[in-house]
Amino acid sequence: MPDGCGTANRGLAASVSGRPDGEAPALSLIVPCHNEAANMRPFAERVMECLSVEGAPETLELIFVDDGSQDDTLAQVTELIAEAPSDRIQMCAIELSRNFDKEAAMLAGLERATGALIGFIDADLQQDPQTSFEMYAYLQSHPEMDCVAAVQEERREGRMVTWLKKRFYRTFNAVGDVELPAHASDFRVFRRNVADALMAMPEYFRFSKGLFAWVGFRTHTIPYQPAERHAGETSWSLRGLFGYAFSGIVSFTTWPLRLVLYLGIIASVASLAYLIVVLFEYLIVGINVPGYPTLVCLILLFFGIVMLAMGVFGEYLGRIYIEGKRRPIYIARQVITQPAKAASPAKATTPSAEAANEGARIEDASAR
Ligand code: UDP
Ligand code: MG
Repeated sequence: MPDGCGTANRGLAASVSGRPDGEAPALSLIVPCHNEAANMRPFAERVMECLSVEGAPETLELIFVDDGSQDDTLAQVTELIAEAPSDRIQMCAIELSRNFDKEAAMLAGLERATGALIGFIDADLQQDPQTSFEMYAYLQSHPEMDCVAAVQEERREGRMVTWLKKRFYRTFNAVGDVELPAHASDFRVFRRNVADALMAMPEYFRFSKGLFAWVGFRTHTIPYQPAERHAGETSWSLRGLFGYAFSGIVSFTTWPLRLVLYLGIIASVASLAYLIVVLFEYLIVGINVPGYPTLVCLILLFFGIVMLAMGVFGEYLGRIYIEGKRRPIYIARQVITQPAKAASPAKATTPSAEAANEGARIEDASAR
């Protein structure tokens, strides 16, 4: 299998269906990695194991995206690349200049993927490469479908997280402009048309589940059961999950703005009604309404509503501000590719550190 992850795609117009030599791998798997040093080798071994199962792709491109890891993730990946374990696998690694987040890492991988079919998979072995290959096989035998999404059969997180995630899907689907299939993740395999559509969306705040739902296409779902994390810890805290969920809702709907409008309308109607009651009591019944407590309550209520409205506006304004800067979504520090087999057999076994230091194997950094 020839050398190299292909060049970056930049949207619909840049649809690439092959590598520089014209031969596209059957499947590109994009693996975002953040502090996954202990998982890299077991992950690669599992991929190799699954490749020998019938129905696996003939050729595979593995794109590791090192998302600002502070451990040995990159060194581990560089070793794997230098070892070039099989003719059927072509590996490369994109090192981002810092930790951008999984969404940015996924985009970085997507822009370099050259496979006819493309998939995302986590590095921690919670998602089995065998399932990716089953999704691949499904698309091979169903040309009318564009995407296969693996959906968690049952959640193994704590009760609190499960409950919150359920609420999130309910809320999102109630207020969002697109429908999120419950428990669908970004563990998917899809065709290039889907990849091109995803890359054509230049937004900074990326929420893959929403983006997949927004681009549409014919999606088949298959159940899967996530395994325990092989090593290391999840990068998600409860606070992080909250932020991600909130960001997802704000990215895909202006419903909070509408909610503030409704609150404003309700408050105005209620205060008008109260004014009528006060006037009626004062002018017709002749009661001198005690004003101070009422006034304090009303001021606090309306002040609260105004502050809430400002908070919601601020959230959207902040996003417009950040999107308006058009900063790159990620910055790649270097791209490490496999040594070309044809050039020299000695090179193919070059130790990792040297491979990483050889100018020929490190491409220019890019940003998007
Ligand atoms: N990840 C990443 N950048 C981050 C956080 C996570 O690339 O900032 C990767 C991580 O290495 C893993 C995948 O995203 O391959 C899923 O992360 P994690 O296992 O922490 O999430 P969980 O499975 O708990 O949802
Ligand atoms: Mg995980």
